[in-house]
Amino acid sequence: MVPDKWKRNAHHWLILHGRYVCIARKPRCEACVVNDLCAYPAKTTVTPLAKAPAKPRRAAAKKRKVRAARKARR
Ligand code: SF4
Repeated sequence: MVPDKWKRNAHHWLILHGRYVCIARKPRCEACVVNDLCAYPAKTTVTPLAKAPAKPRRAAAKKRKVRAARKARR
């Protein structure tokens, strides 16, 4: 159940959550914002909401590179 005001973006958030946080082979439960709501019994950590970034560093570095390239084109 998704409230109407969030329906437009909800599927993107779920896809990104699966790609960067709730990874199939090893979920990053310590960085998960729904850790307290999740009923998955075999969580990868006992410490919810640690300081780990939500996205892997490689993805963040790529994003910065794309931004810099766009800025250079202007
Ligand atoms: S707490 Fe649940 S939803 Fe979050 S990453 Fe772990 S298994 Fe996935």
